[in-house]
Amino acid sequence: MTDDPGGSTSGLLAGEDPSIRSGPTDADWAAAVDALRGLDPDARVLLICHVNPDGDALGSMLGFGLGLCRLGSRRVQATFPGPPEVPEPFRDLPGLELLVPAVEAYHDPDLVLCFDAASESRLGDLVDRLALAAPAVVLDHHASNTGFGDIHLVDPRAAATSVVAEELLTRLDVPLDAGIAECLYVALATDTGSFRFDATTPDVHRMAARLLATGIRPGEISRRIFDTRPFGAVRLHGDVLNRTRLEPAAAGGHGFVWTYATLADLARHDQQPYVLEPLIDSVRCTAEADVSGVLKQIAEDGWAVSLRSKGAVDVSRVAVALGGGGHRFAAGFTGRGTAQDVVARIRAELDTALLRAVERD
Ligand code: AMP
Ligand code: MN
Ligand code: MN
Repeated sequence: MTDDPGGSTSGLLAGEDPSIRSGPTDADWAAAVDALRGLDPDARVLLICHVNPDGDALGSMLGFGLGLCRLGSRRVQATFPGPPEVPEPFRDLPGLELLVPAVEAYHDPDLVLCFDAASESRLGDLVDRLALAAPAVVLDHHASNTGFGDIHLVDPRAAATSVVAEELLTRLDVPLDAGIAECLYVALATDTGSFRFDATTPDVHRMAARLLATGIRPGEISRRIFDTRPFGAVRLHGDVLNRTRLEPAAAGGHGFVWTYATLADLARHDQQPYVLEPLIDSVRCTAEADVSGVLKQIAEDGWAVSLRSKGAVDVSRVAVALGGGGHRFAAGFTGRGTAQDVVARIRAELDTALLRAVERD
């Protein structure tokens, strides 16, 4: 196990930009600070985070957006591709007033900032805004980041994109207030699994301490973000977990455990797709398997797949090979076909990933 969330000690991923691996240079930070300090208060600034946003995507984007407002920017918009609905757990986040639906986002912004997106494909149709804006600043922490955009603040050693966002706010002399802190805390808590994963370094706890010192209430925030769901979702989880399959021989004998949730499951329990996100945390508890997966149906033949590993397999390699991305221990991709088709592809890639790891060692 390693405390390197991006697994940057292993070989390059397909499409990975080698300059990303060592984190932002002084020149990268200086370029970002110059771009933001020289900003006219009426410049149109567009913040974009990845599709199907999680706590890090929304939290780092909105926290930074609030910081920009404190800096004097009057025209700050935040957005993400796809349906504009914010998942229920995030509907009390500070800075939500900055959010606009993707179709209403500035078409020719003066500056774009991207949050928590490893590749342009995670920005959907909003990717056209990058071509028009000069410059586009990318804040991210995926080792699989492709190096898109103009100014790269990509640190694969950072536990969350909000770590990068906080550093940039500090360099811009924007003090933390409770609103900014709550957003950055939600992001940090999400990506460290509530400070349980190996990415939880002393620096992560020091950052959490700075955020908590603004007076935010961690118990209340955690209950809202992680520990609240509709009764229908509790019963839906029961159905989905009940059909979990364990394949002890898969992943070279390290074991693979997986399940799937269909659109019919959601409809039967009258639930929104976001309620499926915590399922992977129940599945990955399985002692007999190193690798876990949850397939979440998004269309007749389309599945959003979450993969997790306890360390034997670098699942970001599996996800990248199947058109997605992520980190060594947490990755995902969008799969086509039936659930069985998608699982067969994962099985095959798990073996390939292990073979490649053996060849490297
Ligand atoms: P999730 O399972 O959705 O929590 O995602 C785990 C990790 O994989 C996160 O770092 C995501 O950014 C990444 N990820 C998930 N789905 C995709 C995808 N379709 N393409 C690229 N990266 C993804
Ligand atoms: Mn994310
Ligand atoms: Mn993240």
